[in-house]
Amino acid sequence: MSRILTGRVVIATHNPGKLAEMTELLAPFGVETVSAGALGLPEPDETGTMFAENAAIKAHAAAQASGLPAFADDSGVCVHALDGAPGLFSARWGGPNKDFGAAMARIEAELARRGATAPETRRAHFVSALVIAWPDGHEELFEGRIHGEVVYPPRGERGFGYDPMFLPDGHQRTFGEMVSDEKHGIDWAAPDPQPLSHRARAFLALSRACLRRAQSLA
Ligand code: IMP
Repeated sequence: MSRILTGRVVIATHNPGKLAEMTELLAPFGVETVSAGALGLPEPDETGTMFAENAAIKAHAAAQASGLPAFADDSGVCVHALDGAPGLFSARWGGPNKDFGAAMARIEAELARRGATAPETRRAHFVSALVIAWPDGHEELFEGRIHGEVVYPPRGERGFGYDPMFLPDGHQRTFGEMVSDEKHGIDWAAPDPQPLSHRARAFLALSRACLRRAQSLA
């Protein structure tokens, strides 16, 4: 991390679930946050072929339009037996109505069509690529992943997107059954915080980079 994070930063998402999580995860950093929606910023086309590329597109667009450092996360769930789908297209599988009940049913239908119904064929992981872009074009990237399996029917009403279908390894409850603190899994005060979700892992990587930077200035 070559830049210090201070002042006001934009959270470049129009997804309310993601905005809530990013706001919570940014709270310990002591910066003031404002969302892209609150600033009336448009949503750029996500034309990249990788999560990091799309996160960079969103972060740079918001930084340029607002004149502030901007955070963007590009994320998705990759189901191994579906060759990584929906992956980069996780949001698009929700369709114009953002119907993730239908998107989860589609994952299940695709798995059944391929005969992938046994537990060991239901492996999946979530990815979060987190990019911070500054108005002068500088950017920094942090990534997080969490492995687990997809379950059906979905379980739990919490979270957003594919949360009710995702059971992280070593846990009995899906992300949809967890309160957000449990899904993040970070105890910031602990000497060795153990983040759970992909997004929390990306933010922990960011906080470690900030710490290294602060130590190098001390
Ligand atoms: P995008 O990053 O804006 O392209 O959207 C990513 C999509 O992936 C979201 O609309 C969700 O459907 C899904 N997704 C990403 N992160 C999560 C998560 O933490 N829980 C559940 N679904 C997620």
